Amino acid sequence: MADHKDGLADRFPHVPERLSGLVDLAYNLWWSWHPEARVLFKQINQQAWKKSLHNPVKMLRDIPPEYLDGVLANPAYLRRYDIIMNRFSRYMANHSGWFSEHYPKEKSQPIAYFSAEYGLHHSLPFYAGGLGFLAGDHLKECSDLGVPLVAVGFMYSEGYLHQHIRPDGWQDNITEVLDRDAAPITRVLNAAGNQMVIQVPFIEPRMYAAAWKVNVGKIPLFLLDTDIAENLPENRTISHRLYAEQTAQRLKQEIVLGIGGRKMLAELGIGFAAVHLNEGHPAFALLEGIRERVAAGMTFPDAMEQVKRTSVFTTHTPVPAGNDIFPRDLMNTYFSSYYGQMGIDAETFFGLGHHPCDEGTGFNMTAFALRLTQYHNAVSKKHGTVARAMWHCMWPGTSEQEVPIDHITNGVHLPTWLNPRMETLYSDYFRCVDPLWHEDHDNPEIWQMIEEIPDKKLWEMHLWLKQKLFNRIRERKRIKWGSQLNEPGNLVAEGLMLNPSVLTIGFARRFSSYKRADLIFHDRTRLKRILTNPWRPVQIIFAGKAHPADNEGKEILQRIYEFAQQPEFGGRIGFVEDYGEQMAQYLVHGVDVWMNNPVPPMEACGTSGMKASLNGVLNLSILDGWWIEGYQGKNGWAFEGDPSQETRDASDSTALYNLLEKEVMPLYYSASMDGIPHGWVKMMKESIKSTSAAFSARRMVKEYVTRYYPTLVAGAQDR
Ligand SMILES: *Cc1c(COP(=O)(O)O)cnc(C)c1O
Repeated sequence: MADHKDGLADRFPHVPERLSGLVDLAYNLWWSWHPEARVLFKQINQQAWKKSLHNPVKMLRDIPPEYLDGVLANPAYLRRYDIIMNRFSRYMANHSGWFSEHYPKEKSQPIAYFSAEYGLHHSLPFYAGGLGFLAGDHLKECSDLGVPLVAVGFMYSEGYLHQHIRPDGWQDNITEVLDRDAAPITRVLNAAGNQMVIQVPFIEPRMYAAAWKVNVGKIPLFLLDTDIAENLPENRTISHRLYAEQTAQRLKQEIVLGIGGRKMLAELGIGFAAVHLNEGHPAFALLEGIRERVAAGMTFPDAMEQVKRTSVFTTHTPVPAGNDIFPRDLMNTYFSSYYGQMGIDAETFFGLGHHPCDEGTGFNMTAFALRLTQYHNAVSKKHGTVARAMWHCMWPGTSEQEVPIDHITNGVHLPTWLNPRMETLYSDYFRCVDPLWHEDHDNPEIWQMIEEIPDKKLWEMHLWLKQKLFNRIRERKRIKWGSQLNEPGNLVAEGLMLNPSVLTIGFARRFSSYKRADLIFHDRTRLKRILTNPWRPVQIIFAGKAHPADNEGKEILQRIYEFAQQPEFGGRIGFVEDYGEQMAQYLVHGVDVWMNNPVPPMEACGTSGMKASLNGVLNLSILDGWWIEGYQGKNGWAFEGDPSQETRDASDSTALYNLLEKEVMPLYYSASMDGIPHGWVKMMKESIKSTSAAFSARRMVKEYVTRYYPTLVAGAQDR
């Protein structure tokens, strides 16, 4: 495969040879989870770094050469540069590590990981929410552990949505097209030196996609881009945005991702032992696996059996709308020449996507993925129970408990989500017992050392991060002030009056109605009393996007925005626009409390609360998803959801108010003579100690590997 530098050297002629490693570094997201590497870019010029929105490719492209000449003459910079470039090369060349120690035989056989979204960094807008960050964290952790993996996804040129809140609180979607040449992606070139274009096999009308690549440490992520001249005009838009609203467009996306994605790997000459499907969207990759085998001479039943033995499927949602179902007519539009290639007729084909308890609706992607994979898992213990009940009718002969859907609880990539300053503080106390604790951060014992951090130090670090969050919110507001007309009400609604010395609750997530962003407004009088309490005031920061087609979500958002402007709430509510990876970092590092109150059991897992906890932010959450496993009585607050649909908003909000008034507020405002709320800090320590190892992506990836990987590889060998 051609190296990306082939096309790139010409584009960075102003980067001196002595610093040419910066280009390699900029094109590998490794820099994003190594703060020392990030500093290397920042030190070239702080303003340019800020202007690039922390995107080193853009920065290197746009920077005036004299800045580079400046650091070239700076021995301190060059010293750091050499050390970090060395570390980077050693990291990339190191193929030992946890994985090869434990699985020497499986070493050379990668897993092909398919996902419709990846949350890696804000310069790559290829995510909508939690599913994407889960995938992104999975890749980073596989890189760190040396797990051989190759990933497939989309190059969404318009991303998910770029949220702009109108003065009346309605969410607008601003279209922003990704500048492909300023993003950390490179064209995959063919032998002739042109960008590789694949045709999605046996699909009519024909579809084509160009190939791009992102380097995620050692893991290559290959992306499909349909916006090319080879495609019919209506097919050029397939990869424009995440999760197209129209069913036909959605189906085309999933065809390109699953079938086209697999074709792309074949054309790249990348062999793999097994397939891991992150949610049902890419499940057509299994079809293509069968077709490839049938084309090579296998019978359909044998091909199906082998695809099954070498595939794992992770289901992520108990929300019925999260499962795609495609009408038969629509499927026939594209697949009529395809299933013949697998040696089967229409009935057998549609039988693959048949859901026995939902007859006649069409091809069910989740039912299909469950049927065609040997291993399937939910993403938390509770979600396992829910998924087994939900899909019981696929296994009519078994009891619900025996439905073969297991669970592996999600986790978050520690180097990505633990603030670097906080990390340094932890490290000061962990190092004395284990200098290599980073390698062992999924070991809960290490985290007991949190106890040795003096309360004052942990508290001051937290306040520093809180201050950074407030500075950030004001700075964003200030920038908008210069570019748009603002009513005073909008300034208040967007958080200008928020005060860093006040107990601060964060609520940031997608605005789906089951997440109940407005639950806390259920009894407005009581909420007002809480927020405007003269001795123990509280403020809430909201952030999140509603799906472009979800008017209900947009209405909830608008209502919150209106509340935020009402004087009765005392300027104690702020809505922060355009929630994304960067804002998420500030929020999960800097608020005091992370609130979550979905309708159980709709939250399959949830990961933002894990990110918060890792940084000492306390969870206040309904018992659903991961928090059922995470909460142990002393590390935050929990309440049971009311199962009755009629009364649940009333009783769940009452539970929230009670906890706030009786526990959260008194504990926060209980500083002793030294100005430190020791009770609060004790709970912060308890939270960090009890969740960091268990909810790390390291623990999660090790579980995927140990439970599925060797059998998958064996399944592939035994043909
Ligand atoms: C972690 C994260 C999510 C997922 O959070 P949930 O708790 O699952 O809602 C969504 N968006 C962003 C930007 C994140 O960083």
